[in-house]
Amino acid sequence: MRGRMMEMPLLVSSLVEHAGGVYGDQAVVSRNTDGAVHRYSWRDVRDRSRGLSGALAARGITAGDRLATLAWNNHRHLEIYYGVSGMGAVCHTLNPRLHPAELAFVLNHAEDRILFLDTTFVPLAEAIADKLPRVEAYVVLTGPEGMPETKLPNAVAYEDLLSGAEGGFTWPTLDEHDAASLCYTSGTTGNPKGVLYSHRSTVLHAMAISMPDVFMMGSRESVLPVVPMFHANAWGIPYSAALTGTKLVLPGPRLDPTGLTELLTDEGVTCCAGVPSVFIPLLQHWRDQGVRPPALERVLIGGSAPPRSLIAALEGEFGIEFLHGWGMTETSPLGSVNRVGREWLDRGVEERSIFQTKQGRPPFGVELRIVDDQGAPLPHDGTAGGELQIRGPWVAAGYFRDDTERLTSDGWFPTGDVATIDAQGYMQITDRTKDLIKSGGEWISSIDVENMAMGHPEISMAAVIGVPDERWGERPLLIAVPAQGATPTRDEVLTFLGERLAKWQVPDDVVFVEQLPMGGTGKVQKSKLREEYGG
Ligand code: AMP
Repeated sequence: MRGRMMEMPLLVSSLVEHAGGVYGDQAVVSRNTDGAVHRYSWRDVRDRSRGLSGALAARGITAGDRLATLAWNNHRHLEIYYGVSGMGAVCHTLNPRLHPAELAFVLNHAEDRILFLDTTFVPLAEAIADKLPRVEAYVVLTGPEGMPETKLPNAVAYEDLLSGAEGGFTWPTLDEHDAASLCYTSGTTGNPKGVLYSHRSTVLHAMAISMPDVFMMGSRESVLPVVPMFHANAWGIPYSAALTGTKLVLPGPRLDPTGLTELLTDEGVTCCAGVPSVFIPLLQHWRDQGVRPPALERVLIGGSAPPRSLIAALEGEFGIEFLHGWGMTETSPLGSVNRVGREWLDRGVEERSIFQTKQGRPPFGVELRIVDDQGAPLPHDGTAGGELQIRGPWVAAGYFRDDTERLTSDGWFPTGDVATIDAQGYMQITDRTKDLIKSGGEWISSIDVENMAMGHPEISMAAVIGVPDERWGERPLLIAVPAQGATPTRDEVLTFLGERLAKWQVPDDVVFVEQLPMGGTGKVQKSKLREEYGG
């Protein structure tokens, strides 16, 4: 027997309609590309996104068309999220840090018809425009007064596009399984692969991440995603903020500690989200300046493993709650979050921070398991380690324009991460399968060794790679960035690690560098390190 309830699709447009109608006065603040702070409300976001939908429809854009963005986290990018998906087209966010050839590949693979871009990225687009035969127009995210001289064909200012639109656009009632947005993940091998999110997956993911013990969104909160809107839709925060009426603060191009601290302070930000490499210099800046954004209650860190020392500093030194998230572009991205239970609150920061390096538990909707080399499920005992697999309604079933079967025969997505899961359901990533180091038949987790190394007071960043070794197969090599003004020595660092790690896990050598090669989404590029130091 079927239930007798209404059938209403879950649509991205319904999120901004809700925000505009119910939380219409709630602020949306954004740093423009020229540095000025722009403020308006969720009502304005709704109205202008609708206007954009109308303008696109008038230009002949139809459902299923892909439209790309090359943009910072700002209010016009937010309107594009809603205006493009809302009218049934697909919002394709591009990572401006990709190599130009890779960008051209992705734009052509997606067959994007329009490219929306911030003024910052005009030179980048000009450099590849002749390789983009399918792009019909370049919409520069500015008013007519800010329009740069450009040789881009059919370039138009965003505000001109909007002002030419007729009012009164109504969002279409789409099928909730239709595609809403597209994000390519730069695989370490082969070409980037497109993850094609649906309206349904986007809304369900937004609901799940809004919950208590997950991102804890709500109308009393003010959230600043440092994580880019081109990286897995800024972890879903632009959608979840609309769903919950949260104040949204978008940092634009100013991701430096001074720019961020200013916005965090002025906008009463209660929660800030980003990768570990954003927070390490930010905390140093607060220390140096003797400041702390007064309203900041918690930070959400994910994308790569945060060092324990960072967690302890946030909670112990600054009194800011640390939430640890794990996910992938393919998982929308949230797959798990670690918010410690009440039983941990009375324990010391040091002990707690060890536990907080675990990537946490899945929110309702997704399930996690670990499997051995033959694909057989392993026990959740906190010890057995194997490949992490995930399933749920916001996990990719395959890639855009790619027929390869990506799921296991029983329907799970293999993540390429190696993990343990304990009896309480807390998952801990020990490595990427490809980054694990096998030495003398024993596995060494590069994440564990990096974590220890970053606990050394004179080291700010660390990466560990395996280098070929005749006797042991592979041995770990530590590549470290000294803390500002510090001059640690190799022997000191190895002694420090020798006191904390099993003998065979201690790296054979240390290379000090000024900085680590970072990829487009703020992760250390170990492939580059292997190329340089692997010999
Ligand atoms: P991406 O699709 O670019 O977001 O990359 C996803 C990958 O980032 C995951 O498969 C993990 O290897 C890594 N990752 C994400 N979050 C974490 C985390 N909290 N700790 C360790 N690795 C992480």
